[in-house]
Amino acid sequence: MEFLAQVFEVILWAVFLYWLVKRVSGWLSGRSGRPPEVHRQPPAPTKTLHRDPVCGTYVSEDISRRLDEGGTTLHFCSDQCRMRYLARQNRSARA
Ligand SMILES: [Zn+2]
Repeated sequence: MEFLAQVFEVILWAVFLYWLVKRVSGWLSGRSGRPPEVHRQPPAPTKTLHRDPVCGTYVSEDISRRLDEGGTTLHFCSDQCRMRYLARQNRSARA
């Protein structure tokens, strides 16, 4: 019966070690597995948008057609809108 007692003792140790390894590895993976906290910030506006007074489209100032008028700069989406605006100004100036 002494042999059986030794086997039982070995099994108990094996179970204990298995439990220990599982617990420690789970604890470690639980610690490292957590996603890193990222502070999400809304993307900063890269370019200022200006409203085209003719068609109402918002255009970025680096691609807009500009027109200085009375100290303010107007931004147009295309030369067409710019010309249309100028034509309208001429018409109103004439009238
Ligand atoms: Zn336009």
